[in-house]
Amino acid sequence: MSAQISLFANAEPKTKKKRARRVHPSVPSAPATTVPTELLRFADWILLNSSGGKDSQAMASHICHLADRLGLLHRVVVVHADLGDVEWGGTRALAEDQARRLGVRFEVVHAEGGDLLARTVARFFKLKAKAEDEARAEGLDPAAAKVAPAWPSSSARWCTSDLKRGPIRKLMTRLVDELGGLGRPVRILNCMGQRAAESAPRAKLQPVEIDRPASNGKRHVTTWRPIHGWTDVEVWKEIACSGLPYHEAYDWGMSRLSCSFCVLGCEADVVLAARLRPTKAAEYVAVEKQVGADFKHGLSMGQIVARAQALEAEHGELQRPPRGTALARHVGKKATRAYLAHVDSDALNLAA
Ligand code: SF4
Repeated sequence: MSAQISLFANAEPKTKKKRARRVHPSVPSAPATTVPTELLRFADWILLNSSGGKDSQAMASHICHLADRLGLLHRVVVVHADLGDVEWGGTRALAEDQARRLGVRFEVVHAEGGDLLARTVARFFKLKAKAEDEARAEGLDPAAAKVAPAWPSSSARWCTSDLKRGPIRKLMTRLVDELGGLGRPVRILNCMGQRAAESAPRAKLQPVEIDRPASNGKRHVTTWRPIHGWTDVEVWKEIACSGLPYHEAYDWGMSRLSCSFCVLGCEADVVLAARLRPTKAAEYVAVEKQVGADFKHGLSMGQIVARAQALEAEHGELQRPPRGTALARHVGKKATRAYLAHVDSDALNLAA
């Protein structure tokens, strides 16, 4: 009988029971308001997530301007999740410089346990061990076990949760502690520069929503995407008006910042990045070999490097573009000249 039971137990499909996420009963199910000035007034902390990229920069200057008018600048904190060497050189320093010029507090957070490349390798060995264990349990050859891709992707975007969201939540805990006993949960307004125009998934995001997973009995977190409806031109206009320096990678032709090689980036961006950072691209190729999977779905870093090398051979080494190239494309030469006349920023070593 016991043998029969174990037989049936083995035959049952393995379904992992998902643990229902418990949310503290005090956490509201919907935001109290979606009116910008009320959102700002209601918040104990106004947390501006800054990747150093153009969207978070435009968002930060827009919100700081509003908060200043309301006398709330002291509640604003810019937070940058430092991704280490996988992000463009000078990004962290730029985010800090922008916060300083806006007159607000700056915090930098880091994930423990290595950067994206180190984590991809560690994840591969974890997934491999799991696949081998499962194969053994099913009486199959563990050497033939299929290992799930270790790289992050649109369906397994662990890079964002591990390298950005997690460390930023730790900062939230610190900010809550700083306010001591308010006698009620601390209200954090977590502002992000995500825009509908960036992608179909981002278009589906709500401009204002309660971040229930980040909320608990001590803090209520509201996510606000203040520039969700903005166009590219509106973003660049805000940058031009703010006079804040923007990252030079845009002048070189990158459409996005953060990781130089983003698993979700377009081909033009990653090929350009491979021309600008050949040494880093070679590290990605080495990791690709180690984990036996392409960096991007359907496009390996090996292919990206080959395309970058072909372009180098055809057109020669990239020449540093004039400062303001990206801005001029969106706001015109006159506004760019006015911007450049009062913005001071050093040329960055993008290959660093
Ligand atoms: S920039 Fe791309 S690769 Fe880097 S953390 Fe964000 S989604 Fe992941």
